[in-house]
Amino acid sequence: MSIHVDSVSKRFNHFVALQDVSLAIPEGQLVALLGPSGSGKTTLLRIIAGLESPDAGEVRIHGDAKPSIHTQRKVGFVFQHYALFSHLSVFENVAFGLRVRPRRERPSKAEIAARVQKVLAMVHLDWAGHRMPDQLSGGQRQRIALARALAIEPEVLLLDEPFGALDAQVRAELRQWLRRLHEQTGLTSVFVTHDQEEAMEVADRIVVLHQGRIEQDGTPQEVYEKPATPFIYQFIGQVNRFRGRIRDGAFQVGETSVSLAGPTPEEGARVEGYLRPHELDLAVDLSPGALPATITRIQSLGPLARVRLSAAHDQSDLEAHLSADELGQLSLAVGQRIFVKPRRLDLFPDTS
Ligand code: ADP
Ligand code: MG
Repeated sequence: MSIHVDSVSKRFNHFVALQDVSLAIPEGQLVALLGPSGSGKTTLLRIIAGLESPDAGEVRIHGDAKPSIHTQRKVGFVFQHYALFSHLSVFENVAFGLRVRPRRERPSKAEIAARVQKVLAMVHLDWAGHRMPDQLSGGQRQRIALARALAIEPEVLLLDEPFGALDAQVRAELRQWLRRLHEQTGLTSVFVTHDQEEAMEVADRIVVLHQGRIEQDGTPQEVYEKPATPFIYQFIGQVNRFRGRIRDGAFQVGETSVSLAGPTPEEGARVEGYLRPHELDLAVDLSPGALPATITRIQSLGPLARVRLSAAHDQSDLEAHLSADELGQLSLAVGQRIFVKPRRLDLFPDTS
């Protein structure tokens, strides 16, 4: 089922939680809703689920206007903190959503048993039906929460930071596993996270929320390589930022004039130039457009080397990513004076 969010706004008293949010999710897509804490992710997910109503705008699931009791059952929801009933067995937890159906829609006992077994197998916990939740690990409990959401045969699956409470290694495993489950079920899914790596790894598409608005909507690659705003640059991945002014059609940073490709802001404008660490070259010798900096740290991470620097003109921190080969050729040392050369810059007005 496709999901359409049309111009949804939501306030809590005077606080604007969502402002004019529109989103069309085609059938079968796995979308990550990514944003910092308080950006409106849970509110948007609850509105999509019909658990909360918007002040303005509407949500349609496959064309049906919501909220409506009849469309509720199409939605599987996994909450941020695992909400299993501790006094019920795993089997009963998973069966719960089926048992509370109105009588005429309630499957028979045999059908419920078969369906519970099927979804437990999907989450690779078919052996766990008789266990109690506290006999399982955190990761297993969260897979049970997923099985419970799947048991009602939802047409869309909504997950609110489902792995948030788990430790890093279990989270990493569950991401892989969620991705495979998605490929198996093809369910239209919205996955909320504040973790950009998680979003990158799991999703087909990333929608970045910031202060109740969609700030960017694109593939993981687009969001990483072509951030729409300074916020996205800083929130997703690592970034280098240079502050300066437009002088004689170039970007003046400290004493250095960096020539620009593409349209140049007006003469005298204060601007910030952003680029990713792999777009910052290091050079031992001075050349036009190169900025002096001092190496503060060198970290070798297998095939990648991470070099941290302090810019000479304003002591701001910089980071360059090199291949191990490049690092070997340069023979760098901490404390060394060197030059950094931006291969590309994305300019934004300096609003500070
Ligand atoms: P996120 O999930 O991205 O952390 P939420 O959607 O939970 O953000 O919340 C967005 C903002 O709306 C937060 O500042 C939160 O305090 C506020 N908020 C959410 N729900 C309520 C509520 N029921 N009453 C008052 N304020 C709320
Ligand atoms: Mg939340």
